Amino acid sequence: MAATRRPGRNHLFVPGPTNIPDRVQRAMLVPSEDHRSVDFPNLTKPLFEDTKKVFGSTDGTIILFPASGTGIWESALTNTLARTNKVLAARFGQFSHLWIDMAQRIGLDVIVQEEEWGTGADPDKIEQALREDRNHEIKAVMVVHNETATGVTSDIGAVRKAIDAAGHPALLFVDGVSSIASLPFKMDEWKVDCAIAGSQKGLMLPAGLGVICISPKALKASEALRGHNDRLAHVYFDWQDMMKQNPAGYFPYTPSVPLLYGLREALACLFEEGLENVYHRHHVLGEATRQAVAAWGLKTCAKEPKWNSDTVTAILVPEGVDGAKIIKHAYERYNLALGAGLSQVAGKVFRIGHVGDLNELSLLGAIAGAEMSLIDNGVNVTPGSGVAAASSYLRENPLAKS
Ligand code: PLP
Repeated sequence: MAATRRPGRNHLFVPGPTNIPDRVQRAMLVPSEDHRSVDFPNLTKPLFEDTKKVFGSTDGTIILFPASGTGIWESALTNTLARTNKVLAARFGQFSHLWIDMAQRIGLDVIVQEEEWGTGADPDKIEQALREDRNHEIKAVMVVHNETATGVTSDIGAVRKAIDAAGHPALLFVDGVSSIASLPFKMDEWKVDCAIAGSQKGLMLPAGLGVICISPKALKASEALRGHNDRLAHVYFDWQDMMKQNPAGYFPYTPSVPLLYGLREALACLFEEGLENVYHRHHVLGEATRQAVAAWGLKTCAKEPKWNSDTVTAILVPEGVDGAKIIKHAYERYNLALGAGLSQVAGKVFRIGHVGDLNELSLLGAIAGAEMSLIDNGVNVTPGSGVAAASSYLRENPLAKS
């Protein structure tokens, strides 16, 4: 049976992949080219420098892998750690869970700090665990900056302070998949050793480019493991292979050339807007979404304002209502894609992604569609209430800071 045509545009409000600006789409429409040509480094060399800016780094080294964020998790762990090494990780949502699961399956000994979903990493508990680790057996602390499943942002600056207060040498690995290029990220200031990003969120590209920014300390750790018997096996994600070729502007294997052109244009978009404005815009759009949720009489999954994420809001549906039905109806009836509840919160939440290339009116479309779907599914919401609350907030708070 032929698929039904849905007229008008699809409103994509999952928290990644995000909407791609038209000029970025156009920049990716390129003929195939020789990635070993003399011209190719003109495209690639500036990318390594420019990409660092969205990580808040000058000291770091950027590697661009043909991968999604999950591949970059693996790259960070396998290049720096040895089999049975201890790592410390907080679990408070599906993505922190999946990263921990990967670390365990790779052969690491993970000390898991369980946090309630809707909260985030607890710097005090991290400090305590590190203080108790007198022999410095813990080699790395893993934190998901923005837990996309629950709409929770953790305070990475506070985690860094906790590590320093404990006087512990552990590496700090941060998953910034749904924060980098949308929320303030200060790799050098926070002394993050591996910062992990994917192309399909704040970078406003299709999935397929995994980005890691590596500190000098993490590079040293990976060099120290060369030839080590307990080194975790890795080939495709080896940093050294990349670093032999990248300085000259080349790759050890075939890169996705259109994605590299797309990255160049996406970075140009971000820098033209100004990163401070990008962060401010995400804050305003996040706050407008929260105003709508409050006006509906609903609550966010984030338990306290300090956990609020400015890239995604997970909205708790009332008891007895299936969040999955609200999402399905919004998609089928209103051509609006909302984010699903994952794992522990499946059916209990729906998510509005407000990350990437969007503005007031695009967000209001999503809020209107979510509101209509809630009402159609019997949730007691006053028609227009969310749109009114969000729009009055947006009228008072311009998206651009400067
Ligand atoms: N980490 C976070 C916080 C995410 O939101 C996601 C995906 O949504 C991932 C990791 C996994 O990234 P990918 O789907 O690009 O492999």
